[in-house]
Amino acid sequence: MSLRSSRGIVRTSRNLRCVLQAAMVVERVSEPEFYERVTGTKFEGEYGERASARRRGSKFESNLTTNNAALLRRALAPIFGYDVEAMVVRNFADEIPGPPHELHAMRLTRMRRILQDLARDREVPHLVIQPQLRIQVGPNLTDFEHVSPDFFVLNPAMRMYVPGEMKSFIVRQGVADGADLDLTRRQAAAQIVALRDEAGRLAMHGRVENRALFVFAQPYGLMPARPVIEVLNQEVFEVERAVQFLREVRARLVGLRASTATPLEDLIAELPINYQDRCIGSCVLATVCERRFAGRARVLGDAASDLIGPDTDVGRLVALINGAQPRTPEEAVFATRVRLAAAALGYQPRTLRRATG
Ligand code: SF4
Repeated sequence: MSLRSSRGIVRTSRNLRCVLQAAMVVERVSEPEFYERVTGTKFEGEYGERASARRRGSKFESNLTTNNAALLRRALAPIFGYDVEAMVVRNFADEIPGPPHELHAMRLTRMRRILQDLARDREVPHLVIQPQLRIQVGPNLTDFEHVSPDFFVLNPAMRMYVPGEMKSFIVRQGVADGADLDLTRRQAAAQIVALRDEAGRLAMHGRVENRALFVFAQPYGLMPARPVIEVLNQEVFEVERAVQFLREVRARLVGLRASTATPLEDLIAELPINYQDRCIGSCVLATVCERRFAGRARVLGDAASDLIGPDTDVGRLVALINGAQPRTPEEAVFATRVRLAAAALGYQPRTLRRATG
């Protein structure tokens, strides 16, 4: 799996200070292959979505979109006041079948025609399955990433589409399971940014709201739960910053290669990183980056880093835990908190044990 399409933009939006990851996105690397180029060994960890989760997701989507998207229409119609049977559906997966990555251009052309009709106040479909958009991430015509929402539904009040995602996460009492929700929201935010860009070409950008629809699964079977509309102001803001960051990193790479066409793996030392807890399990280079912080507080996690500073020597922390005199205000805060925590756990630092023992 590569860092192409909105996936790369979403990943960048989660770590807006890691130049290396942004460079991987700009170069659209395949992560396991890039890991091998960097380390010389195969990536043995778990990578990408599990096959069982992928199968469940596909089955859920197919349930919702078969029979002219009957289940999806039924779920969405009450939200927008539509008559379920009168809803007009265009399904690009049926119109232009095949793997999406080969069909982006054709689907994008059709989506643009629909948006042109919308701008001219003509009739447009109420529901578009697998529409296509793209985001410009650099100065050249080819510097764009494809963005592929699961569906668009027309909001008649705004005369504009709202992006929607179908996810087989289970909803209980109106709340969806799973840490993947953050990724799903950011995916939808990328769709909003791309839609606003396309709408802007037709002077309709003001009609695009920072809202998206999520259709999750009920706990039993693969029936849709009641759709959820979310306002995604923060996510849209971070995706916009990610797009800008990708442009800057693209220019930086051009500068670094001004004299020689150096492969990305040989530029790593010159590309700042921002190693954090969420790197683990999300970026293939987590173990590689962690090694750069060996012996420093950074490897103890975000909380320790924030408290004492990421570059603090772990040996110094151990000394503070064992009763060494703090030398800085940060060390004093750390020492106090550690002693309070130790007392709560019934642990006596070595110096105290010596004094009282
Ligand atoms: S693991 Fe390394 S390259 Fe990946 S996001 Fe974290 S710091 Fe950046």
